Amino acid sequence: HSPSAPSGKRGKVVVAGVTLSNPDKILWPAVGDHPAITKADLARYYEAAAERLLPHVGDRPTSIIRAPDGIDGEMFFQRHAMAGSNPRLKLIDVQARTPYVAAVDVGGLVAIAQSGGLELHPWGCKPGDPEVPDQVTFDLDPDEGLDFADVIAAAKAVKAKLEALDLPAFVKTTGGKGLHVVVPIRTDARSRITWDQNKAFAKALAETLRAGAPDRFTTTLAKKARGGKIFIDYLRNGRMATAVAPWSPRARPGAGIAFPLSWGQVRSGLDPSAFNLWTYPSLLRKPDPWEDFRPSAASLKKALKALGVT
Ligand code: ATP
Ligand code: MN
Ligand code: MN
Repeated sequence: HSPSAPSGKRGKVVVAGVTLSNPDKILWPAVGDHPAITKADLARYYEAAAERLLPHVGDRPTSIIRAPDGIDGEMFFQRHAMAGSNPRLKLIDVQARTPYVAAVDVGGLVAIAQSGGLELHPWGCKPGDPEVPDQVTFDLDPDEGLDFADVIAAAKAVKAKLEALDLPAFVKTTGGKGLHVVVPIRTDARSRITWDQNKAFAKALAETLRAGAPDRFTTTLAKKARGGKIFIDYLRNGRMATAVAPWSPRARPGAGIAFPLSWGQVRSGLDPSAFNLWTYPSLLRKPDPWEDFRPSAASLKKALKALGVT
């Protein structure tokens, strides 16, 4: 029933109109009972998940972690368009040396798979407008040795602060060690803010949390400041900063996916590694826990005042 069956002996595979070279190239090695994941598998994942993924990456400048020979090979973080960039990707001029790239449709996502693009890291901007922020991301980074329960507690502390400011809070796994708490923000003419305000808001909220529990939280990037604490990384919120997109795979062992959660799932026993490129068909059959993400978007203006940010 695959919409993109192999055609012919040479193993040519076409997914969403994009022809894959080396479709059988292994990108993630087999783990236990789980078979290796090939480039064709990744392309089919992007095709299957496009409806959930595109609202978060579509038409936003996107950095891509490319691992053309798989996660055990060489990897690089691609920020700009490169020579021979697939015509299915949109080029976005952000007054940088060279344009950035963005997917705008499923063909763009599959073109990213074709080039060995394993991770998607979009700007937190409004689609089609790189100068306007449309979300704030609190990236919770635990020091080594902390339990995931500590990350969960931190996410709930961020949520409580946001709710006290009348702001919505959404949570996702990263496919890694932490969680991201994300606030969708409005971009209409009355509500829109600058990138500097966006970052200042995130910083002010992070500082408030640190001041209230300096033994649990740090806002200092340096790893040595972390000492058994959670780094509330507010730096994801300036112009050109990125965060991994919900539904993006991770180029790490275990083929995890950064996965959008409901707050009810954020409790002891939550196992972020359960969301991965082997389990995604059942994940896609469930309702989207972030269905209300964009409709919940709020203005930050009052919160900026409340936190004393100008
Ligand atoms: P984890 O839960 O393991 O921390 P993460 O995706 O949050 O996973 P971080 O290292 O905290 O990983 O990075 C947060 C975001 O910052 C990334 O998703 C990425 O978009 C961006 N980022 C991190 N490192 C780099 C880098 N070296 N170059 C560019 N962007 C980066
Ligand atoms: Mn992180
Ligand atoms: Mn971080």
